[in-house]
Amino acid sequence: MNTDKLSKRLESVANYIKEDSAIADIGSDHAYLPCYAVKKGLAKRAVAGEVVEGPFQSAKKQVQSEGLGDRIAVRKGSGLEVIEAGEVDCITIAGMGGPLIASILEDGKHKLTGKERLVLQPNISAIAIREWMLKNGWKLIAEEILEEDGKIYEILVAEKGDPEAPYHHLEKELLLGPFLINEKSPAFVKKWEGELVNWRKILVNLEKASGSEENEEKKLALQKKIHYTEEVIQQ
Ligand code: SAM
Repeated sequence: MNTDKLSKRLESVANYIKEDSAIADIGSDHAYLPCYAVKKGLAKRAVAGEVVEGPFQSAKKQVQSEGLGDRIAVRKGSGLEVIEAGEVDCITIAGMGGPLIASILEDGKHKLTGKERLVLQPNISAIAIREWMLKNGWKLIAEEILEEDGKIYEILVAEKGDPEAPYHHLEKELLLGPFLINEKSPAFVKKWEGELVNWRKILVNLEKASGSEENEEKKLALQKKIHYTEEVIQQ
């Protein structure tokens, strides 16, 4: 991967950047995504945010070596603290767990004006992001699921709007994704078939374990997830 040829995962994230945006890529690591977006003309300027020193230095080096320092600001800091409210119109956060992405949005929500598009790529637990959107008035407008090198990734795109609009069966669709359920692509089926195998194993163990209240609650929650997922996969 380099800044002319991104991984399929990051290229798919970049596809949701509206042309001529000012973007912030949070957790940018080598700044591949902002460099690519600026070079391709998707973004007119960018902020690459990184909280860890090593990746922050890699991002700075990358931007300097490409001669993009006038259009990409590399800033060290956690989450949205690296941007001013209204500074960008698209925020990308990729390659982290859903709960971490949701906590970055929650901690930085005073920086969101509502004009931004959010393009989020959780590696796991996209449900945490859908739940955050629902609570905070962000409407999911697109979802994508893709497989690369044997791993499956989801992309969630949101803009400010009616957060309930995409959902018909809230609990089920928060888990599986309202757009992804409809599409039911091979990557989607593969991901959830894998989860079903794991969940069934956990359920067997829970059934063997003590019948404490906590265990019973875990069992019920898991049975519900299995039910929703089987319902969609086997349809
Ligand atoms: N976004 C790149 C991608 O998708 O290929 C890099 C993903 S890398 C696995 C996650 C990066 O996020 C790491 O470089 C990590 O230091 C950074 N990170 C984690 N938490 C962060 C936070 N709160 N604020 C900014 N960066 C963060």
